[in-house]
Amino acid sequence: MDLKKRLENVKDRISKAALKCSRNPEDINLVAVSKTIPADRVREAIEAGVTILGESYVQEARNKFNVLGTYPVSWHFIGHLQSNKAKYAVRLFDLIHSVDTIKLARELNNQANKINKIQDILIQVNISKEPSKSGSDIQNAANLIKDIVLFENLSVKGLMAIPPFFNNPEKSRPYFIALRNLRDQSQTAFPGVVLNELSMGMTGDFEVAIEEGATFVRIGTAIFGERR
Ligand SMILES: *Cc1c(COP(=O)(O)O)cnc(C)c1O
Repeated sequence: MDLKKRLENVKDRISKAALKCSRNPEDINLVAVSKTIPADRVREAIEAGVTILGESYVQEARNKFNVLGTYPVSWHFIGHLQSNKAKYAVRLFDLIHSVDTIKLARELNNQANKINKIQDILIQVNISKEPSKSGSDIQNAANLIKDIVLFENLSVKGLMAIPPFFNNPEKSRPYFIALRNLRDQSQTAFPGVVLNELSMGMTGDFEVAIEEGATFVRIGTAIFGERR
């Protein structure tokens, strides 16, 4: 199948999953995960209708942006971000999905301030409590939001999580529910911010994520094929 057909197929599945649970398909944003995918393939995806790219490595994204930066697409960062890359991240990305420490938030705020930008971010939560994984502890997420609210150049929009990998998408469901519940609690605790966004669901489980409230699904393999 060519890329355009695969993209159509993914969009179709997104719509069907949304309609199945009485959601508006337009409320679900497709982030085409283009990490490790060469610029010419990414260009093909843009020309086929992709409007949001998800990148995991700052340097790789910068290289691609040099080639593809004139296309009217939104660039999102979904990988682990080191504070020393914050300067480049705020210049490139409309939304950073993976803020998980106060140190990183502070540096992003400083760098966004320098270029007079309000940087949109999501808090990444280690919802499965895996020791090896990035993401704020569940208990610490509220603290992080409390501190980030005070940063004038950051705007927190919601939460992101990556559940463990399962062959059966139903096994991801409890983690998606947990992230949504944490968002709802956080929204109640911080009425001054609008935490509408839930970034959850990948190739293997995005339909379940949509049923549980995802507003961003991050999909690579189903669009670009297996990564090398
Ligand atoms: C690679 C990656 C994805 C996409 O995974 P697929 O299974 O290829 O859809 C989504 N989110 C994050 C954070 C990733 O690193």
